[in-house]
Amino acid sequence: MARVYNFSAGPSILPEVVLKQAAEEMLDYKGSGQSVMEMSHRSKVYDNIIKEAEKDLRDLMNIPDNYKVLFLQGGASQQFAAIPMNLMKNGVADYIITGQWAKKAYQEAKKYGKANVVASSEDKTFSYIPDVSDLPISDDADYVYICHNNTIYGTAYHELPNTKGKILVADMSSDILSQPVNVEDYGLIFFGVQKNVGPAGVVIVIIREDLIRDDLDEKVPTMLKYKTQADADSLYNTPPCYGIYICGLVFKWVKSMGGLDAMKIHNEKKAKILYDFLDSSKLFKGTVVKKDRSLMNVPFVTGNDELDAKFVKEATEAGFVNLKGHRSVGGMRASIYNAMPIEGVEKLVQFMKEFEEKNA
Ligand SMILES: *Cc1c(COP(=O)(O)O)cnc(C)c1O
Repeated sequence: MARVYNFSAGPSILPEVVLKQAAEEMLDYKGSGQSVMEMSHRSKVYDNIIKEAEKDLRDLMNIPDNYKVLFLQGGASQQFAAIPMNLMKNGVADYIITGQWAKKAYQEAKKYGKANVVASSEDKTFSYIPDVSDLPISDDADYVYICHNNTIYGTAYHELPNTKGKILVADMSSDILSQPVNVEDYGLIFFGVQKNVGPAGVVIVIIREDLIRDDLDEKVPTMLKYKTQADADSLYNTPPCYGIYICGLVFKWVKSMGGLDAMKIHNEKKAKILYDFLDSSKLFKGTVVKKDRSLMNVPFVTGNDELDAKFVKEATEAGFVNLKGHRSVGGMRASIYNAMPIEGVEKLVQFMKEFEEKNA
């Protein structure tokens, strides 16, 4: 068995111990004589799996009792529509555009109401986070929307926007569980799990209870109402059972690693190794403003497209895979999520040094 160092942006690396446990439990989950894939989502044994996953996530993130945790399908992208459908009361929301995911969310919101762009970093290909300390927040905004970590561009918020009392909604698909979060700063947090938590097919929504409404437009699809999902404890219909089970194993793994404070230290250490090298390299350089750098996604370039392609090819042959940058940015991107071990980053940097010497 030859495992590679997988720097994919998503779906992405999972902890090896989790994959091994899933393999061990594949044919017979804890004496049930069935795979988790085969069992009824209404069975006692599955009920324990989803309840325990929720409990472990609540422990990890310190989620207050007045927030619901919903395990849903449709990916993060479906939430781009569900959020305005559920949260727009006045029909107004303010969006901060820091990349393609925030932009897609904004474009979707425009279909349901008045969506305003209150800040954007599109002028410099999303290479920074705009100043969000004093934004022209709309008086009647139902919420302010951010993408907390910009997977494609490699920027992240290190300070939250001043929403002037409005509810903050955040897409945390690519940095959830990478560091502690004060859930109470948000009305709603959501994340597709395939970046830092589990296999594609599950999206998790953490929503303050008072935002779950009963008085939505009757045309809002039943499945897209948070009320439907909250009332049924995410079992209105068949949930993505197996994916939720893997998420649960990952939550236990994060706990065993020491929780989110320890995860942050682990991630800062890893990112520093790569950023320090980029800052000292004569060949490679990072593409974003230093103070806004992401701990999870690290884009970099040589400045020469042919050399970039050569690097990606040789890196792949050496066992460092999925380093090609997003098609909209080019160059390279190393996604160094929770499950990437420190030695994966150390070895990548060693490989980059050798490539630099040969190609200087
Ligand atoms: C990957 C990603 C998405 C899209 O997720 P899907 O589950 O494919 O819809 C949205 N937002 C962010 C920040 C992402 O990284």
